[in-house]
Amino acid sequence: MAIRRAVIFLGPPGAGKGTQAKRIARLCGVPHLSTGDMMRDAVSRGTDLGKAVGPIMQRGELVSDDLVMKMIEERLAQPDCAAGCLFDGFPRTLPQAEGLDRILERSGFGEPLVVDLAVGDDKLLRRLTGRRTCSVGGEIYNVYDLPPKVNGICDNDGGKLVQRADDTAEVVKQRLAAYERATKPLTEYYRSRGVLQVVDASVSMDEISRALGEIVKCAEGRNGHL
Ligand code: AMP
Repeated sequence: MAIRRAVIFLGPPGAGKGTQAKRIARLCGVPHLSTGDMMRDAVSRGTDLGKAVGPIMQRGELVSDDLVMKMIEERLAQPDCAAGCLFDGFPRTLPQAEGLDRILERSGFGEPLVVDLAVGDDKLLRRLTGRRTCSVGGEIYNVYDLPPKVNGICDNDGGKLVQRADDTAEVVKQRLAAYERATKPLTEYYRSRGVLQVVDASVSMDEISRALGEIVKCAEGRNGHL
């Protein structure tokens, strides 16, 4: 029987959660659930949710727990999440973590596997200000550390690479402060339950992927299950 497991990538903005979550989710054939991506999508489509969260994201502040939980609950009810999923950028507060615990228990998932992508502040600024995202497929590059073959163009689909509106130095400062205040305490929350693993995320993206692959262990033949 398939193991129903949720994997959570914790870590500050710029730790490489998005890049790694995309890689590992693709490798394991499970959905990658990024609350940031979902809300950016809502902003670009101009939905009611997008209109509500756009200005908050623009300031680098956290969106309310209620809105985030509602979005996650709806997404987790989709059949593609049945065998497991990978969370990136969620949970970000203690109430979100507690809410997720209740949902996972109700849906018959076991304890989540939580990985903290640990990296010092000096690397974060370089990662965030150098980040570029494909406007078509969402692939993530970095002009310093993970550049595309052709400047400004995605290797995968030829899409134009764009910089996120909240990757400016001013907003990054707010996002890092929100992480320290609201999200960092989650490492202790999960460590005390014995479900936390820590990965050194100051090394190259490929090295981080290798370390994560060993922890998540979605071996061949288990495709579609974490
Ligand atoms: P990210 O793409 O994960 O860096 O998120 C970008 C922005 O979206 C954050 O700075 C927040 O404004 C908002 N956001 C994303 N995920 C959450 C969450 N789980 N809780 C609250 N706000 C979030």
